Amino acid sequence: MRDKLFIGLLLVMSSTVWAQVDINHQENEVFVKPQLRKNIRIPNIPGYQTLKGDFHIHTMFSDGQVWPGIRVEEAWREGLDVIAITDHIEYLPHKKHLSADHNTAYKLALKQAVEKNIILIKGTEITKNKVPPGHFNALFIEDANPIENEDVSLSIEEAVRQGAFIIWNHPGWKRQQPDSTKWWDFYTELISKNRLHGIEVANANEWYPIALDWCTEKKLTVFGNSDIHAPINLKYDLSERYAHRPMTLVFAKERTKQSVKEALFAGNTIAWFGNTLAGKEELMQALLKNALILQPAFRQVEKKGVEWYYAELSNVSDIPFVLQANDRQDQKMILEPQSSVIVSYRADEKDLTYRVNNAFVGSTKNMTIVFDL
Ligand SMILES: [Zn+2]
Ligand SMILES: [Zn+2]
Repeated sequence: MRDKLFIGLLLVMSSTVWAQVDINHQENEVFVKPQLRKNIRIPNIPGYQTLKGDFHIHTMFSDGQVWPGIRVEEAWREGLDVIAITDHIEYLPHKKHLSADHNTAYKLALKQAVEKNIILIKGTEITKNKVPPGHFNALFIEDANPIENEDVSLSIEEAVRQGAFIIWNHPGWKRQQPDSTKWWDFYTELISKNRLHGIEVANANEWYPIALDWCTEKKLTVFGNSDIHAPINLKYDLSERYAHRPMTLVFAKERTKQSVKEALFAGNTIAWFGNTLAGKEELMQALLKNALILQPAFRQVEKKGVEWYYAELSNVSDIPFVLQANDRQDQKMILEPQSSVIVSYRADEKDLTYRVNNAFVGSTKNMTIVFDL
């Protein structure tokens, strides 16, 4: 009896202790999105880390709909390593409600960037109505304010004086080039003065194949950027496992801002948008060699007097590849991310060659990958 009383007392006491927690305040985690970063698996290439970047992003400080810090949060969740906030310097539709100088978006986003280990690059978009000149992103600037100028040449000159990397944005945007994606002398002149360093081969949901040829011919860096204005998950259905915004893969020596800058000036990038890759041949070759692995043959059989080998071809990346056997036009296969297929070849074959239909190294040229046997 005494024991029961004691237990009863304990229960009363413990409920008193619990009562100090507010029972009328309960956490409900149902339907709450977990705070997780998605890891995008794309292999490194010899001597370089493969970083995922987006170098064209807007916030409320120009015509975007999102506060700067949220841009960092979005990038972190999607598995990006490096972003540039590039608000228009001449087009500020929210100015009446948000009066601030051109460096404010960067300053506001920096706190989240440090907390989330995202490399944040200070940038701006020089925005002129016609092509030429069109729109340019200036990256790695020090101060956006003096870059504002009616004269585009003076804008770019000031950005370059600050050490900026200059990208010609969306060269085939119909609003500025209604007939076709054309090159103009204006850009040749910029290159001659070392004031143009890269081109957006892909912007949002458009891509401009001819711009990939320009990058190769004129030694300019290839970019694929989102140019996102809305919240990212209002534009892309990121609930799909392999869904992603258009991005630029950067092959950098280290995961630092300085290394990214060196990589961009060295042209070490590939654009990845939708299910398509676009870049220069040497880098594409290096990436595919590390993404697609042919294991040694595991089986040998004889069919009608011919020796056949069977081996496993694996895709160790998160990029799906559309492979077409060179000598067998009918044999097209999609090698999904993180999956393998069995391939067969005759004992007298010297190599297995595939055209990668979704990897472009020229406007009309696909990457070819050769496995020596
Ligand atoms: Zn633009
Ligand atoms: Zn833009």
